Formats: sequence, C-alpha cells, structure tokens
Amino acid sequence: MRNLVRENILSMKPYTASKDIAEVKLDANENPFNLFKDLKEEFVNIIENLELNRYPEIDNQCLGEKIAEYAGVKSENVICGNGSDEIIQMIIHSFVDKDDYIVIPVPTFSMYKQYTEIGGGKVLEVPTDDSFNVREDEIINIANEKRAKVIFLCNPNNPTGTIIKREKILNILNRTNSIVVVDEAYYEFLDETIIDQVNINNRLIVLRTLSKGFALAGARVGYGIGSREIIDIISKVRSPYNLSSISQALGILFLENVDRIREKIKEIKNERSYLIEEIQRLNGIYVYPSGSNFVLIKSDKAKNILSACGNEKIALRGFSDSYTNNCIRITIGKREENDKLISLIKRVV
Ligand SMILES: *Cc1c(COP(=O)(O)O)cnc(C)c1O
Repeated sequence: MRNLVRENILSMKPYTASKDIAEVKLDANENPFNLFKDLKEEFVNIIENLELNRYPEIDNQCLGEKIAEYAGVKSENVICGNGSDEIIQMIIHSFVDKDDYIVIPVPTFSMYKQYTEIGGGKVLEVPTDDSFNVREDEIINIANEKRAKVIFLCNPNNPTGTIIKREKILNILNRTNSIVVVDEAYYEFLDETIIDQVNINNRLIVLRTLSKGFALAGARVGYGIGSREIIDIISKVRSPYNLSSISQALGILFLENVDRIREKIKEIKNERSYLIEEIQRLNGIYVYPSGSNFVLIKSDKAKNILSACGNEKIALRGFSDSYTNNCIRITIGKREENDKLISLIKRVV
C-alpha cells in the first residue's frame, strides 16, 4: 500500500500534542476560564431549537455577520473556518501550487509549513534576530526573488510572543507582490490589528480564531478577514457545511457575550504581568516580552524545569530546535495555577 502514498506525505510526521494527564494545563495557549459554564443555560435553549436533522447554513452566514460586527468589517469580508487552521489550509489550496514558495519567519507556528508541504509547496524560512524580531528586508528580498505566493506573519508570534510592528507588516505588504497573511490568533491579548488595511490592499488576509481569547477551542471556530475579492477566491476551496450547526451557534453566542470575555482577558493580561515579574526575579531565566496569553522563557535549567513539572502534573511546552533551544512556552493560567508553577520553578533554579 505504501507505494501508493504521495512521496511528500510518506516522509511527514503527523501533528501531535501531549496526551499526558495534566492537573495544571499550561501547554496549549488555551484560555484557563471555561466561559461555557456561564453561558450553558442559554446554549441549552438554543440547542433545543436546533434542527440537527438538517444541514447547517452552507456558508455560515449568521456567524459571519456577528464576526463582521466584532471585527468592524462587512460580512463580504469574512470567511469562517473549522478553526483558523482550516483557513490556513484554504489559503494554501487557493494560491500555492506544487513547487511554489511560501515565506515564513522562524521560529513560528508550525501549521503554515505543514499545510504547504502537504500540498507539495516549498517553504523558505527566514530566521528572526536574537530577540525574535522579524527581519523584514530579508523576507522582502527572498519573497521577490523566488516570487513567493504567500508570506505568513504571526502577530503576536507563537511560540515567542513577539509583536511585529505595524510599519514592518505594511512594508512587507507594499514591497512584495505576495499574498500576506497576518495571523492574529492572539489579537485579544494585544489589541492591535491590521484589519483596517484589508480594503486598501487586496493581497492582505487577517486570520483570527475564537479558540484563544474567546475560550472556545473545543468548538473550532476560526475566521479570515480580507478584501471581497480575496474572500471570494478562498471561498471556492471551502468545504460546504465546514462548521457544524453546533459550532456556529456557539460562535454566535460567545460573540454576543463579548463583554464577559473582555473581563477575563483583562484578568489574563494582569496574570501575564504577574507571572513575568515573578519569573524575572529568578536567576538564570530570561523572559521574552510577550503580547500574548503565553510567555517564552529561556534557561540552562529548562530540562530540569520540564521534568519537575512533569512529576507535578503541570504541562508546559518545551522547545529544542536551533532557534528555541532551552526554551519553554508557558500559557498564562489562573492565579493559583501560576503560583503553583512559580514555586516549582523556584525550587529547580
Ligand atoms: C492556536 C493557533 C491557531 C489555530 O487556531 P484554531 O482556530 O484553533 O485552529 C492559529 N494560529 C496560531 C498562531 C495559533 O497559535
């Protein structure tokens, strides 16, 4: 059977996530608050009237309208995905043919590369500087030289938390001919966006998700914002009924309760300052600045910290490639979770 598999798929490793049972889960950049608990009754009322024998809205129209309102655009500028991961996939399907290039700064979110390689495209990786800042001239030069189809910029970046300055994004957009995707998965924790540019430059796509700030990772609701022209193109490769009726209903309900979500985001941002201050006091640990709901730290004792956390059932995400050697990504948790982690790190370093 293996002789039938496409060559580029045979050599790939499937995406994995830790399945260890954690008591304190700080490894996946999730929102620590289960806001569904507050909204459960309303959801039950909605569910009672759902006609689950029928297909959902084919193009997620009601959800799209709510998203448009939240993002300050028209619904023609919105496409919904089964998580924003699916929109990354749709973008690759729409623009990146076999042997076409995409450009990414590294380190960054792994799915841009993953989906490109599945499709037979090629990835040009441009290393960031020592502080994980994007090198814009290098990105522009190589994108132009190789006629890259797509440039992916993650702002703030996962896994580093680094913020990309607006001028840099605009520069990359204006000095290349590529599609520029700005992944704002962590927008709610930064409050800066480039969405205002989507109708000025039709090559720009902004990605967002309800998985992080909105505490809805389990429902898989993501979206893309772009010019009508580019949304119409990406829509051609979208699977019909890509979001279940249940996911659409949950997305709408959570967007209608954005005020509640904003309170929790404020709390997470406070916890971020607290965690950063506490860790910075310790010797031998460097904390990178973060515009997100996680922080990246670097320490010679990274392995010790990770194994101590494993023993205590605290899940963190360790990194060990050439860019992020000895780095650990810590998702901001609730106060008691953060305190548990801090006291454990104090014991190790
Ligand atoms: C979590 C994450 C996503 C994926 O979000 P989903 O909507 O859950 O698929 C996309 N981009 C980045 C950078 C992320 O960290």
